[in-house]
Amino acid sequence: MLTAKEIRESFKAFFASKGHQIVPSAPMVVKGDPTLMFTNAGMNQWKDIILGIRDPEPRRRADSQKCLRVSGKHNDLEEVGHDTYHHTMFEMLGNWSFGDYFKEGAIDMAWEYLVDVLHLDPADLYVTVFEGSKEENLERDDEAASYWAKHVPADHIINGNKHDNFWEMGDTGPCGPCSEIHLDSRTPEEKAKVPGRELVNKDNPQVIEIWNLVFMQFNRKADGSLEKLSMNVIDTGMGFERLVRALQGKHSNYDTDIFQPTIQAISKMSGLEYGKDENVDVAMRVIADHLRAVAFSIADGQLPSNAKAGYVIRRILRRAVRYGYTFLNRKEAFMYKLLPVLIETMGDAYPELIAQKSLIEKVIKEEEEAFLRTLETGIRLLDKKMEETKAAGKTTISGVDAFTLYDTYGFPLDLTELILREHGMDADIDEFNVEMQKQKDRARNAAAVETGDWITLKEGETEFVGYDFFEYDAEILRYRQVK
Ligand code: ATP
Ligand code: MG
Ligand code: MG
Ligand code: MG
Repeated sequence: MLTAKEIRESFKAFFASKGHQIVPSAPMVVKGDPTLMFTNAGMNQWKDIILGIRDPEPRRRADSQKCLRVSGKHNDLEEVGHDTYHHTMFEMLGNWSFGDYFKEGAIDMAWEYLVDVLHLDPADLYVTVFEGSKEENLERDDEAASYWAKHVPADHIINGNKHDNFWEMGDTGPCGPCSEIHLDSRTPEEKAKVPGRELVNKDNPQVIEIWNLVFMQFNRKADGSLEKLSMNVIDTGMGFERLVRALQGKHSNYDTDIFQPTIQAISKMSGLEYGKDENVDVAMRVIADHLRAVAFSIADGQLPSNAKAGYVIRRILRRAVRYGYTFLNRKEAFMYKLLPVLIETMGDAYPELIAQKSLIEKVIKEEEEAFLRTLETGIRLLDKKMEETKAAGKTTISGVDAFTLYDTYGFPLDLTELILREHGMDADIDEFNVEMQKQKDRARNAAAVETGDWITLKEGETEFVGYDFFEYDAEILRYRQVK
């Protein structure tokens, strides 16, 4: 069985043998691009080449890119831990051609790598092609289909709509059809019941997308029309963890040697076994996943904080701590203790983890401890609110209470909702949003009159502790109850 390390290396070796320059991953934390906080795809670092601003030489490149999908266009956070194939932080393997080979080359190479080099069974692979769009006056991507037909039987080629099979960088700019490769890893019995082609792009956890080949051939102009790009671009992205799972014959990314060492460490630490209880399993997956997101962010210089990217990281860390607290009985800081295992599995490929080890450990530990202190108090308050609500014969706690938890105890709304869901309850989100808006208005007014950042308060009053960034980028002031 190939190890994850060997698989990563084999990808690079294969594309190097096809004349690609192997480049390092760009940082996962993006600085100086107002449209993006975190790298969410391998192509991000090539934006300027694709836009024609930077020299495209060398025209063939490949890498393994650290990505984070927790905000903006791609936000997979809610899935993570509950499903077995979406992560917050993941590695995207990619190869690019800037005006060199196009559809045929990209398809041939992808197929050769998966089938001839890695020996995936072609019977388990399905490919999608863009079906065309009347409103855009675009025909089906017969070109891509004809190249796939060299390798794949007709019933493994599936038409896909604009949503899945037409990639656009934004409202304007480079775009084009794409072809995805999907893998069917169901049991033979399951396969006999329903053909895999019917399950592609249907959220079946055993029929998953592994590789996306984007054929950028158009430029969308401001008036919405499409013109031909001066340079055709191939941009591919393959989920490394999904590929490893396929090659190691597993049915979950978390069963691979990428995640198992961490999960085993969590298991040892908590005295609980993985694979016995769904809540425990979800918690272990969340922690194993989120540890990577947080550790890699800190290694890239993004510390948890109260604003923007820092707040996103803080929320991820808190989500993990809270799962550990509730389902694994972790009442003291524990995530930082998992760092050595993570470094053991990923330090070779990403030496920044080794270089920043003590900083990462220290920051995670401090964050955990600070959050656990407020968590205790907040959970007690939420328990009380749930009881009161139930006693009143209701299942929805007020938005005001949810906002107090958010504002005073640092509970992100998703955390409150998570706890409520476990009790078959929810929160009044509309009212929560009204409170948030009020807070914003207060903040704006306060900012206009206040000259200092803090004032001395009596017990029970609130003090200003800094700025926060909420999911929809609404900046608010944060206050804390003085005890
Ligand atoms: P999905 O449909 O599974 O959410 P996607 O279409 O959003 O994937 P792309 O934007 O096409 O994904 O990214 C290229 C590849 O990266 C995907 O084919 C998949 O293998 C992988 N990938 C995407 N999102 C994640 C994630 N959250 N965790 C792990 N791998 C991912
Ligand atoms: Mg997705
Ligand atoms: Mg998809
Ligand atoms: Mg895709």
